[in-house]
Amino acid sequence: MSGFHKWLYFQGAKRRNPSIFQHFSELKKTEKLSHEQLKELNESRLRQLCIFAYQHSTFYKKRFLEIGFDPENKWSLDEFRKIPPVQKRELIDFNKEIHTPSSFFKKRFFVETSGTSGEILTFFRDESWDSFNRASIWRGYSWFGANPWDRKLYFWGYNTAPLKRLKLRFMDFLVNRFRLFDYDPEKLRKLLPKLKKVNIIEGYSSMIYELANLIADKKPQFDQLKLVKGTSEKVFPHYQPIASKVYGMSIANEYGSTESGIIAFECPKGSMHINMEGVFVEKDPEDGGIMVTNLQSYSFPSIRYKLGDQIELAEDSFRCSCGMETPVIREVTGRIGKKIFGKDQIYPSLTLYYIFKNLYFNQHRTIDFQAHQYEKGKLEIWVKEPVTAEIQELVLTEAAKYFLDIDVILIENHDFRQQSGKLRDFVSHLD
Ligand SMILES: [Zn+2]
Repeated sequence: MSGFHKWLYFQGAKRRNPSIFQHFSELKKTEKLSHEQLKELNESRLRQLCIFAYQHSTFYKKRFLEIGFDPENKWSLDEFRKIPPVQKRELIDFNKEIHTPSSFFKKRFFVETSGTSGEILTFFRDESWDSFNRASIWRGYSWFGANPWDRKLYFWGYNTAPLKRLKLRFMDFLVNRFRLFDYDPEKLRKLLPKLKKVNIIEGYSSMIYELANLIADKKPQFDQLKLVKGTSEKVFPHYQPIASKVYGMSIANEYGSTESGIIAFECPKGSMHINMEGVFVEKDPEDGGIMVTNLQSYSFPSIRYKLGDQIELAEDSFRCSCGMETPVIREVTGRIGKKIFGKDQIYPSLTLYYIFKNLYFNQHRTIDFQAHQYEKGKLEIWVKEPVTAEIQELVLTEAAKYFLDIDVILIENHDFRQQSGKLRDFVSHLD
């Protein structure tokens, strides 16, 4: 069966993504470069993209001229850092001006993406960019001895329209995966016999975690599992012990976005290696947020794009024990910009993350939660377990260290996953 799927994969890729094979073999070469060589390659691709954007994107031409940035004749990283960051709003509002002429590309794919705020961004992704992105994922797989044509269990999309489902099923068959459309314990349980043959489990990390919890006592057998990969959502530290127990390995984090591509991929030694061939990563000194320049996005450049995540980078001298010398993202701590309102003070929603992280590391308590704010000065924290005096005491004591003017109420509620898509740790109902 594997031979057949490999053949099918190559046939499909040759038609849809002809440059994927070259990108993949180049990525396998460049991953062996030294730290300095990788930084050099990274900067030279950055400059190349800036020159192209300057020449062919009216939006960036204007933006660069305004600050006197000339990537061709006056290149330096200091000059580059003067470019104002790009926001998602701008990618939507100036969509046409950002795009470079279609005549440069043999083939482009139409992409549509919506964020948590509900805004819809559409753009064209050229074939090389699309293929590079797929090749980057392939390279990540390769670190675990896995292949794109391997048997996958996929936790993803919530598209319920029957016709769409049928179409997805067929496409899934082509790429050798089966997927779960919704989070339903009954359906998860029915999966058990199928798991024996799975090589890769991937998708929302919260669902990978839920599955681990659900089948922990059923002695599932994963005879051929190579990789468990969490995407799109934060992988919380308390997911890992149960993942290791059930799957025999921890959840590896793939960090990226539709606009920015694969930003980092976690290696078997647990470091999130920055995809230096594909992205230029900066940390905004103002708010600690990540700024990403996608080095492959020639058809729709995003330069110094504010993705909205807060990150911590490893020191430049850090070297991962896996041998690759790529710079590393230590942690994606959460979304920036979301606010929790006290009676007078305002707190970033990241505060919740720190509270529960402390409880995990200091008290060794795993608590699944989701916080909701309906009025200023009050915060409901939903937890999946019964609210005992002990857990009440633990959470409120920790919360009081951060929240000075908020009444925190703990409520037992199992129904976190009412809204489709990403599991959020904070939902504000204030306007
Ligand atoms: Zn590593």
